Amino acid sequence: MHSSLIGKIEKANRYARETDRISFEALSVNFRGDNDTHHVSLDSGDWQCNCHYFESFQTCAHILAIEKILGDMIPASAQRSLFAAATSADVSATETRGVA
Ligand SMILES: [Zn+2]
Repeated sequence: MHSSLIGKIEKANRYARETDRISFEALSVNFRGDNDTHHVSLDSGDWQCNCHYFESFQTCAHILAIEKILGDMIPASAQRSLFAAATSADVSATETRGVA
C-alpha cells in the first residue's frame, strides 16, 4: 500500500472520531417505523417528515431519533430535540463541578 494512502486512512480514522468536524446541511432518509416507512429530510435547517404527528407538531419520533444518532453533526439551528438541551446541561454541570 502506498505510504501516503496509509496516512490518509489514519487521518480518516481520527476524523471519524471527531464528529464535531461534520455538520449536515441536508439529508434525506427513509425511516422504517413500527407501522409504516416514512420519508424524513433536512434542508437548510428545516425538517420534514411525512408522518401524521409531524403535521401537527413539526417534530416527531423519527426526527428525534435521527438527531440522537447524528448528535452534534446536526447544526444547532436545526436542533429540535430535548436530547441536545440535556447534553448541554450535562456539560454545564460537569464544567461547574470542575471549577468548584
Ligand atoms: Zn415522523
